[in-house]
Amino acid sequence: QRRVVIVGAGMAGVQTAVALREQGHTGPVLLIGAEPHQPYDRPPLSKAVLLGTAEGSAFDVDFEALGVDLRLGVEVAAVRPDAHEIDTEAGPVPYDVLVIATGARPLTLPGTEGVRGVHLLRTLDDAERLRPVLAGKHDIVVVGAGWIGAEFTTAAREAGCAVTVVEAAERPLAGSLPAEVAAPMAEWYEESGAKLLTHARVAHVEPGEVALEDGRLLPAGAVVVGIGARPATEWLAGSGIALGRDGAIVADDRLRTSAPDVYAVGDCASFPSARYGERLLVHHWDNALQGPRTVAADIAGEAQRPYDPVPYFWSEQFGRFVQYAGYHPVADTMVWRGDPAAAAWSVAWLRQDALVALLAVGRPRDLAQGRKLIESGTPLDPGLVADPSVPLKSA
Ligand code: FAD
Repeated sequence: QRRVVIVGAGMAGVQTAVALREQGHTGPVLLIGAEPHQPYDRPPLSKAVLLGTAEGSAFDVDFEALGVDLRLGVEVAAVRPDAHEIDTEAGPVPYDVLVIATGARPLTLPGTEGVRGVHLLRTLDDAERLRPVLAGKHDIVVVGAGWIGAEFTTAAREAGCAVTVVEAAERPLAGSLPAEVAAPMAEWYEESGAKLLTHARVAHVEPGEVALEDGRLLPAGAVVVGIGARPATEWLAGSGIALGRDGAIVADDRLRTSAPDVYAVGDCASFPSARYGERLLVHHWDNALQGPRTVAADIAGEAQRPYDPVPYFWSEQFGRFVQYAGYHPVADTMVWRGDPAAAAWSVAWLRQDALVALLAVGRPRDLAQGRKLIESGTPLDPGLVADPSVPLKSA
């Protein structure tokens, strides 16, 4: 029975362990994680855990019952594929099969690393440091109007903090959504009572203050930086395992890396998508749930289809449930479903009349049906897609 070692005890690592047992792998499974905490889920960190309405978000997984050997607080420093060994502070650990699930690390704002009062939001420790900041109702400057920036702003406004959001681009979510779709979402910031400054860049952070490049000074009891994340793969330097320019491990359509018996899954790995004709690097929860099933099936020797998911994620921001499925850059047509000034609306992206992506705001049924339609590629009538009273599946 082959010994499987999984590095990284986040969603993807934990799900790999669970999926291995589901697939009938009976050999030893060792799960190693750098964080000292019982493995936990990240999405609640910018929502209930941040607001203190949930204590934690530990996964409901009984590792002992699964026969998974869990080693926490252990950082893996290197891998030597030729020797089939990884290196930890406690010495080398041999593997027959290695699964890399080290996730991503948030980008820092240059010059502010280690500055007091400047926060990131990736780990449980980060969330715990931010809780008293919210409770203290400080003036907060949020850098970056992306998904994390929007969710953090939502929580901070709910806690009664004064929030100014500094965004370098001309709109929120500039890297994710086209301008006309992001426009109504920008208004949510003002509506919540936060101030959104676009085309704005931080020059430097002083105690209690953020200076912008245009000279403006913003009061800041705390600064929260949400400007994206990069695969946590520095430790693979020199291993010979191929990395892309984005820092992601270059995996194939079964999530195998360039080294024999080494897989990569979750936020740390990119994979080729035949569906979209591109290599994708997905930093969302659903990918860290689906990918491990492919990895476990391949390790267990089960025949399976290539890993080519319809990407999916959700975000809870400004009292709205935002969901997205698919990949819109490959679309030729964009269709509004409903009025973006209303509480609920969707946007559909079509390619030759087949749905390729869908953004749903407060319309979970659109999302559920849309996801299946993207999967099946069924042609739709764009006129009916534009009518929010017609179920998507009937369009
Ligand atoms: P991670 O969760 O990053 O886990 C990787 C683990 O590996 C970490 O614990 C890390 O400490 C460990 N590790 C790293 N290097 C080493 C090493 N060398 N040795 C040992 N261990 C190591 N997605 C959504 O779809 N919807 C949401 O609403 C949503 N909300 C989010 C809110 C927040 C605050 C954050 C941070 C993310 C959110 N996401 C959301 C994204 C989602 O949580 C991630 O896509 C998911 O956590 C990825 O799982 P992962 O296991 O690949 O990586």
